[in-house]
Amino acid sequence: MEILALTRACWRWLLDALAPRLGCLCCGKPSPKSGLCAACLAELSAFLPEDTLCPVCGEPGDGAPCPHCAARRPAFTAARGLFAYEGAARRLILAMKYEGEYDIPAEFFAWRFKSFLAQANWEVDAVVPVPSRLAHLLKTGYNQAAIPAKRLASALSLPFWPHALRRPGLGKSQVPLTRAQRLENARGAFLPGTQAKKLKGRRVLLIDDVLTTGATANACAEVLLALGASSVHVLCAARSLLQGDRPSDHEQTLV
Ligand SMILES: [Zn+2]
Ligand SMILES: [Zn+2]
Repeated sequence: MEILALTRACWRWLLDALAPRLGCLCCGKPSPKSGLCAACLAELSAFLPEDTLCPVCGEPGDGAPCPHCAARRPAFTAARGLFAYEGAARRLILAMKYEGEYDIPAEFFAWRFKSFLAQANWEVDAVVPVPSRLAHLLKTGYNQAAIPAKRLASALSLPFWPHALRRPGLGKSQVPLTRAQRLENARGAFLPGTQAKKLKGRRVLLIDDVLTTGATANACAEVLLALGASSVHVLCAARSLLQGDRPSDHEQTLV
């Protein structure tokens, strides 16, 4: 309990040092000079419970392999989104992805990725972010997955290879698509990048912001394995749930 309190105190100090600001980045409520208020931090204190997730793709359920993984094992060894893509986690990701407010979210998620890895049994050698769509890069000027990925790699003293993969063309957003459409859209979307030769024999940790069907993660993993990576684990800030076969309404508003 004391360790938890100390960790929170350290985190709050770090936020204060990083970003003196008036309101909480998630909810906008007045927050003493820090990026996140106590209520939002508390909401983000626990990961999705591991014993309820598909052990392969991390889809919430009863802890057994989900029907998709049971029918066909993905190329990646395992994938996890730390939080449900809603509430404070969603607002933090949107700020990081679209609003240029990436410093606090990136630091926060890098810290939580590191916490997750400390308790997970994943063996990884190098960190690779999922490349952004060109349309997103042109709009925002940065890859929202690469920023926390770079900080995580630095914290773990692991090599960081943002150019192991590339995403040619403008790329079509996965957001409004069904599961089947996502699989089709992701196929062929990724190609070897300029750092692809480094991958041989490496156990890759692939980082993205939101995990939905795993179609993007799977497409990346297929290319990474074809380039010689020995395994691919996927870690995302949040897990989004498809409602039926369609993305939930809040996702569609992001298009
Ligand atoms: Zn808040
Ligand atoms: Zn699964």
